[in-house]
Amino acid sequence: MKKLDMLYEGKAKKVYKTDDSSRYIIEYKDDATAFNGEKKGSILEKGIINNKMSGLLFKVLEEKGIPTHFEELINDREMIVKEVEILPIEVIVRNIAAGSLAERLGLEEGTKMKKTVLEFCYKDDELGDPMINEYHIDAIELATKNEIENIKNYSFKINEVLSEYFLERDIVLVDFKLEFGIHKGEVILADEISPDTCRLWDKNTREKLDKDRFRRDLGNVEESYKEVLKRLNN
Ligand code: UDP
Repeated sequence: MKKLDMLYEGKAKKVYKTDDSSRYIIEYKDDATAFNGEKKGSILEKGIINNKMSGLLFKVLEEKGIPTHFEELINDREMIVKEVEILPIEVIVRNIAAGSLAERLGLEEGTKMKKTVLEFCYKDDELGDPMINEYHIDAIELATKNEIENIKNYSFKINEVLSEYFLERDIVLVDFKLEFGIHKGEVILADEISPDTCRLWDKNTREKLDKDRFRRDLGNVEESYKEVLKRLNN
């Protein structure tokens, strides 16, 4: 497959067209941003880790019946994916209070939620990705009712599969962000699943092994990303 023009450059990834109109190539970068682009930096070899980790987890999810955009890894930093039109909605799944939820509800970080919490945000950098609900999604036609039903069902199932998968490797899946796209008229999981988009805590020490190490200047950022991939490969 031949890599053609770059279609899009995001904060952490580049997307290229290919000579196959139904497939893109995604390249994962080391660039890191936080707080809606206010904090900028780079995490050495993050692109390699996030590419490999996303590929591995998309494969696990496919095996459990979740349709994803993932096709195959082609080198350290690149994967082939199905062409999708990304829905402008971020889905946040939360098992334990952290980050903005802990702040908003006045919960101590680490408080276990009695039920899994789903949140939606409107993907718009200028607006700072505001939280929205299903009425907003319907009213401004960000997705159809049927698409949202599929997105909710997939999100809960993904949480079940990934929580178990991480826990078997002594990692607690605290919360994570998903993005979905439309491929040939169907909703499929897209974007990435990595320490950039998940909060991951060591089960025994509760040490943070994710992007919060970068956001909060906790040190050992590269080491933590590497540790997660190492555990997933075991
Ligand atoms: N998240 C993300 N991209 C975003 C916002 C959030 O990947 O633009 C992830 C984040 O890493 C965390 C979860 O979604 O795993 C919940 O994030 P939260 O709403 O607490 O926001 P944050 O504290 O990251 O600002």
